[in-house]
Amino acid sequence: MSPAPRRGAGEPRPGGAGKAAAPRLVRTPRHAVADRPFLVIWEATRACPLACAHCRAEADPLRSPHELDGAQARSLMDQIAAFGRPHPLFVITGGDPFQRPDLVELVAYGTSIGLRVAVSPSGTPTLTRENLTAVRDAGAVALSLSVDGSTAARHDTFRGVDGVFDLTLDGWRAARDLGLKVQINTTVSRYSLEDLADIAALVRRERAMLWSGFLLVPTGRGAELDSLTAEETEDVLHFLYDCGAFMATKTTEGHHFRRVVLQRAALAERGEAPRTGDLHARLTARATALGLFAGERRTVRRPPMDVSSGRGFVFVSHTGEVTPSGFLPLSADNTKHRPLTDIYRESPLFRVLRDPTLLRGKCGACEYRSVCGGSRSRAYAVTGDPLAADPWCAYQPAYQAAFQPKDKKNKGAPPCAQ
Ligand code: SF4
Repeated sequence: MSPAPRRGAGEPRPGGAGKAAAPRLVRTPRHAVADRPFLVIWEATRACPLACAHCRAEADPLRSPHELDGAQARSLMDQIAAFGRPHPLFVITGGDPFQRPDLVELVAYGTSIGLRVAVSPSGTPTLTRENLTAVRDAGAVALSLSVDGSTAARHDTFRGVDGVFDLTLDGWRAARDLGLKVQINTTVSRYSLEDLADIAALVRRERAMLWSGFLLVPTGRGAELDSLTAEETEDVLHFLYDCGAFMATKTTEGHHFRRVVLQRAALAERGEAPRTGDLHARLTARATALGLFAGERRTVRRPPMDVSSGRGFVFVSHTGEVTPSGFLPLSADNTKHRPLTDIYRESPLFRVLRDPTLLRGKCGACEYRSVCGGSRSRAYAVTGDPLAADPWCAYQPAYQAAFQPKDKKNKGAPPCAQ
């Protein structure tokens, strides 16, 4: 088994300031992440009738003959259960998982062996109340849906097919009525940037359980979308933090959100406001105009979970390849030949990714490396090195800032780094 990640002297702890009675600012899994993942995502199929601009899977309308079949999928679920209790959350994604005729049967099997199963379908004509009722009755507890625009025109343009927005909204409302927890995922790219406040208002109005800002990883078709700058990303993270006072928010491939949460809590304790950029000001003004920052506040913020690629998180492809994330296409092995427990605990790739002392560039020098560590997927997509610095992070680690020449000090450093 891999050793527990080492935390360097002076590195912030996930709980924040360390006061025993203080609410936790960042959650950690109840078990050692070197022993078992918190989350297992399985790409049940790559088949999907949509043609989304960002698609990681470069989805195809037809199912592949190389997909895990029903018996192999059940074997995968047995391997997940073998991690022990508490079992990892098991998410069935795609492509569109409803393209598999055995989806309900697989959800029922996973539930029967004690897994908590969630499903992540696409906004297609298969997203019906009838199908959602079937997966709910089979034991699924949650559903995640993608909303990348606040209007039908914006969302459907991004998704590449007319009518997807309305199908998604109908499915969202049906799932909510059926008692499924609904998470809404929004791809944060240049396309959605100025629409984020309107999307947030929609998410709050339609009472999603959770809103996740997915910071684009330039891989698959996403490689063709305009990337954000690190400073724009910083403003988005602060906006998500602000929204978190009124609705549950999180990020995907935005690990530095945990750093922002810790920094904002420290600033709040000192009675100081963050210094943010123009994008944050525009999003705040729009959100205020929409009434997003009015009304009932959450009594407790939802703390982000301290997991990342290969460290509490594992992805299994439609053919059984095991990668640290769906956006980090480095396979450690295949569940057809080797148990997932073994691959996750022992493969050199996963062991390396669990050791923050091996990070390079500014992530390696950063005092937040143990609680953040940056997106390994984005580092790999942009540089070819999964241990390199996350190129979408604007933070200047204190160690590096201290050794900058005097005339360069604080130039271009993010406001919260100062
Ligand atoms: S420099 Fe790296 S580890 Fe530090 S906050 Fe940014 S992404 Fe996280």
